[in-house]
Amino acid sequence: MRAQPKASHFIDGEYVEDAAGTVIESIYPATGEVIARLYAATPAIVEKAIAAAKRAQPEWAAMSPTARGRILKRAAEIMRERNRELSELETLDTGKPIQETIVADPTSGADSFEFFGGIAPAALNGDYIPLGGDFAYTKRVPLGVCVGIGAWNYPQQIACWKGAPALVAGNSMVFKPSEDTPLGALKIAEILIEAGLPKGLYNVVQGDRSTGPLLVNHPDVAKVSLTGSVPTGRKVYEAAAAGLRHVTMELGGKSPLIVFDDADLESAIGGAMLGNFYSTGQVCSNGTRVFVQKKIKQSFLARLKERTDAIVIGDPMDEATQLGPMVSTAQRDKVFSYIEKGKSEGARLVTGGGIPNNVSAEGTYIQPTVFADVTDEMTIAREEIFGPVMCVLDFDDEAEVVARANATEFGLSAGVFTADLTRAHRVVDRLEAGTLWINTYNLCPVEIPFGGSKQSGFGRENSAEALKHYTELKTVYVGMGPVEAPY
Ligand code: NAD
Repeated sequence: MRAQPKASHFIDGEYVEDAAGTVIESIYPATGEVIARLYAATPAIVEKAIAAAKRAQPEWAAMSPTARGRILKRAAEIMRERNRELSELETLDTGKPIQETIVADPTSGADSFEFFGGIAPAALNGDYIPLGGDFAYTKRVPLGVCVGIGAWNYPQQIACWKGAPALVAGNSMVFKPSEDTPLGALKIAEILIEAGLPKGLYNVVQGDRSTGPLLVNHPDVAKVSLTGSVPTGRKVYEAAAAGLRHVTMELGGKSPLIVFDDADLESAIGGAMLGNFYSTGQVCSNGTRVFVQKKIKQSFLARLKERTDAIVIGDPMDEATQLGPMVSTAQRDKVFSYIEKGKSEGARLVTGGGIPNNVSAEGTYIQPTVFADVTDEMTIAREEIFGPVMCVLDFDDEAEVVARANATEFGLSAGVFTADLTRAHRVVDRLEAGTLWINTYNLCPVEIPFGGSKQSGFGRENSAEALKHYTELKTVYVGMGPVEAPY
């Protein structure tokens, strides 16, 4: 099998196997080929990983942030040196085209190691609080053993986005990738060891929705960071609450992207396409409700169709391919069922909606799909589809579109395209979302905080803000004089 790792899990600096676990088959979505066979973690494996993380953490926390950061920066260098190899693995794991993975996956993971490695010495400082003669100071201390649980759309990026801030702040991590994409995180764990990370600090265990609770409920776990759907978020949050564990929730969305009639049309269409078709539409922050002001509706749709029909679909390993398959048959079938719902509820299919004809029949491909005349009540305008399906809705004025954009339980992201500077800022101010863009869409460099509001979650990844979610404050009051007691 062409991507078979040495073993399923990576614990305490080495590959570990336990064939008593349920079999997880890793499938290359472009062809249906089984590329690796792994085992879900048994309770014994989970115990082993958490014990290693617990043992290794105090010594790591006692090192200086500069020394910890140096190791992460070395890991970033190794990731960049191996970008091609890691990107090919990411393409096999997810089906995403190599054209994307080579610029967006291991590289964004490396950015995360480099950024957190660099800022740690300054960003982990505490405060000095003068109190007259007495004073106090605060220390930012690590939480301990952190659990990371990943989704399948950006497996290597998620493994790094959680690992980098956790580690640099002095924590250890046990990471569970999605059962659909188990391979990339193992390589990240290997690279961290090669970069000099002491054993036991970054462990990877495989498993599915029955393995997750073993990690989340473990008494030695201090924090859980989940990237996944809203229903999973509710379960994980509830389980973490029972143990009063810290949580970060990066969940789903149904984000609005608003195009006013003064917008640069080509840019707005480009933004809408990136925000619906990149990674075959499997991006949490996608702007899947594209609100277009009525005056430009016809020209927007005509040019959108033209550009969408020109998208190159095919073999993800071919550098020319722009759109690959969905991650799995289950996800493909789910997206097709939404396409059928869109048609039956009266949305107008502008383009796509079927299986492309130039691809392997075993691949889980879907044509990039655009629906127009979508209304707010339709299922496709309310539920997260997580596939290459764009819904275009019309609007008349600003107040109306802001109200409709906010009429959702989700609040992950939002975008506005307009040439009117004051309107752009006024509208983003009113939109209920955690991450917003003006005249661009979906850009998430490591320097900026990323995360959601409402049902899309809480806590932030990336930027110095993420470190707050992997540390807690310790306050020390220092008495400088005699204690005056009234008794
Ligand atoms: P999912 O919720 O099905 O699974 C996510 C992870 O949680 C998997 O590793 C799964 O094994 C695990 N899991 C499932 N049930 C669990 C439980 N009870 N306890 C512990 N772990 C459990 O999500 P998915 O289908 O893998 O990914 C798609 C979803 O993720 C979409 O909703 C998408 O919007 C969201 N997502 C969000 C972000 C973000 O940053 N906000 C990023 C990517 C994906």
